[in-house]
Amino acid sequence: MNRTVLISGASVGGPALAYWLTRHGFQVTIVERSPGGPRRGGQAIDVRGPALEVAARMGVLDEIGAARVQMRGMSMVDGDGNELYRSEERTITGGELDSPDVEILRDDLAEILLAAAGDGVEYLYGDSIAVLDQDDAEVRVTFDSGLRRTFDLVVGADGLHSNTRRLAFGPEGDYLKNLGTYLAVWTTPNFLELDRWQVFHQVPGSSWGGGTMSVRDNAEARVYLGFQSDAPVDYDYRDTEAQKRLMQERLSGGGWELPRMLEYMWDAPDFHFDAMAQIHMDSWSTGRVVLLGDAGYCGSPLSGQGTSMAMVGAYVLAGELKAAGGDHVRAFAAYESELRDYVAANQQLALDNQKRVEAQTAAEMGDEAAAEALVEEGVADFGTVVNGLALKDY
Ligand SMILES: Cc1cc2nc3c(=O)[nH]c(=O)nc-3n(C[C@H](O)[C@H](O)[C@H](O)COP(=O)(O)OP(=O)(O)OC[C@H]3O[C@@H](n4cnc5c(N)ncnc54)[C@H](O)[C@@H]3O)c2cc1C
Repeated sequence: MNRTVLISGASVGGPALAYWLTRHGFQVTIVERSPGGPRRGGQAIDVRGPALEVAARMGVLDEIGAARVQMRGMSMVDGDGNELYRSEERTITGGELDSPDVEILRDDLAEILLAAAGDGVEYLYGDSIAVLDQDDAEVRVTFDSGLRRTFDLVVGADGLHSNTRRLAFGPEGDYLKNLGTYLAVWTTPNFLELDRWQVFHQVPGSSWGGGTMSVRDNAEARVYLGFQSDAPVDYDYRDTEAQKRLMQERLSGGGWELPRMLEYMWDAPDFHFDAMAQIHMDSWSTGRVVLLGDAGYCGSPLSGQGTSMAMVGAYVLAGELKAAGGDHVRAFAAYESELRDYVAANQQLALDNQKRVEAQTAAEMGDEAAAEALVEEGVADFGTVVNGLALKDY
């Protein structure tokens, strides 16, 4: 009977899974590479559809709702900062403002989920899996620190560049699909003095775009800037200083508030840069090792659904392990069959995202025909996709 589970990664998927597994009677250890706590950084992320129900069943929905970013709306501006349109109904980052969706800073959500997972979980911060060696009976794990332990099961919830995936399934390049857009996010002062507002600049056809939004009661702001590149951009995802230089090279000379944003970038405490990329795998498990969230089925921030997929994935994976009495072969198969369609549809959202933003801009600017043409090109209805899974009771 499988009882001990090692989870790699303490962001969203990892703590949510730990919560459910401990309640189902499993003994959980989480290893997180960042020292002292989850890795900081990231802008507002969204909890939607069945992920809201997962949060409710965890008893954290009110807390998550109270920590939401509380946007009033957004403006789209041209290169001189002139407002092209404004909306108090929806924002680029959070969608419809009157929906039940919760837009929350990544750090705040991780903190709430970790607190919910509670004291029954063992945490190994500042460490990482170095070697995974599994057979029919167990997984023998050696950590970077030299620590050696044995677990019944190992779950990789360690993100887009998952270390667990590399060790158990092979090189990242076999599974990663680069979407050709690169995005950086960082904290700045609220230099535009925004009041729970976001401002975006995106010129149709231009190779870059971005925006800023005030957060934490307007005390600070998040900047997010992205650029497109047909040729793959060579970067080391761990070398933050080189990534900042890359952003400076790619974006200097641009209009609007770009120079100021780039100036703040150099001292930002939490700069995060990465390719918008997806993970596609034929199977999310091999033997006693299974992947969760971005590690197994990253949708990219362009989908807006990475967080919800990780929370729902955690609930289903833990539930299926409970339902199968700990039998990982049956549970991992059921986890996949339950989630495959939901994941595929949500990953597709990222590919349609550009058209969706263009359709919204066209509609807001009064060009209904252009908006309808874009919708007719086959962009799936966002609400239908994000709500496209009914949670089982386990
Ligand atoms: C710094 C950062 C910023 C992000 N910003 C955004 C954003 O602005 N917008 C957006 O939509 N999405 C963002 N994401 C992705 C978003 O958090 C995920 O799509 C989503 O929340 C699913 O989470 P996850 O738990 O699967 O993975 P992630 O949130 O990526 O978390 C993975 C965790 O694993 C840890 N980890 C990595 N390698 C190892 C290792 N070798 N050993 C142990 N632990 C390891 C990481 O430190 C991290 O805590 C960001 C991710 C990161 C890591």
